[in-house]
Amino acid sequence: MITRRTFVLTAAALLTAACASTTTAPRDESTGSYTQPPLPANATLVPTNSPIPPAAAEQDCGDVTASLSPNGTTQGQAINAIRARGRLLVGLDPGSNLFSFRDPISGTLQGFDVDIAGEIARDLFGDPQRVEYRILGQAERERALQQHAVDVVIETMTINCERKRQVAFSAPYFMAHQRILAAKNSGINGLADLAGKRVCMVQGTTSLDFIRRAQPKAEILTAPTWADCLVILQQRQAEAASTDNAILAGLVAQDPYYTELVGPDLTDEPYGVGIPQGEDDMVRFVNGTLARIRADGTWNRLYTHWLQPVLGPSSGPPQPEYDG
Ligand code: GLU
Repeated sequence: MITRRTFVLTAAALLTAACASTTTAPRDESTGSYTQPPLPANATLVPTNSPIPPAAAEQDCGDVTASLSPNGTTQGQAINAIRARGRLLVGLDPGSNLFSFRDPISGTLQGFDVDIAGEIARDLFGDPQRVEYRILGQAERERALQQHAVDVVIETMTINCERKRQVAFSAPYFMAHQRILAAKNSGINGLADLAGKRVCMVQGTTSLDFIRRAQPKAEILTAPTWADCLVILQQRQAEAASTDNAILAGLVAQDPYYTELVGPDLTDEPYGVGIPQGEDDMVRFVNGTLARIRADGTWNRLYTHWLQPVLGPSSGPPQPEYDG
């Protein structure tokens, strides 16, 4: 028989357990099972009092996407070193469906960014397969270039003034726009609705900086990759995620029943190939490849194959501006 005292104690214990179960999955030690799914490894809540980064857009570096003209460059110190090695070292993130992801059948990396890397290798070696990948988290992109751990980073990387102080960029090869991903019928329709909601983000991205400035009342949970954010959403451990429409469209393609893109375009995100600073020959060479794929129909073919099914027809590749 349950006495009144037992009932009160049990209710208090249940309440304490409920209060404790916020970020880490509570584990029932007697059965060894989780009462909630665990968060992916290295997912962390950003303390609400941590400093908000300054707006990169406010920093002026002239025409941010201007790059060096190809000028027919086929030789140079950096280019020759890559040719001598026989492979192009490419930094990318394998958790970005449609840009760089592992094909479940073949196990190989595929996607729009992977194919851009292949086109650069085709022009360097006459063989698009002469590529070696280095897996980089978003926050590791600039450092990997500065340390010459990779020749190029092709990882949905937005060209901005802050990054241009650390690395060089090709001309833009894709224009994305930040948007919001939410569960269907969640009632989230834009930035204002993210106040007080938990939003999954990836460290080292322009997306995270933007959300922290534009909606300081959102509770931010960071995860290692955007693919982790999809799992976190599916496990109901966050209510939204926000990054480039092209990346989010890749997540929706993985779960069209539960997730949808909501609200308007929030930013412009021109993607560039990241290159170590000072390697002007390589910047010109990559811009030569980008000029070729715009002209010979390759860019359109890649867009049609990877992105048109989720983003609709494109108005064509971004046009380059050369400043040297
Ligand atoms: N394109 C943005 C950036 O370079 C955000 C998305 C991402 O690359 O993961 O930070």
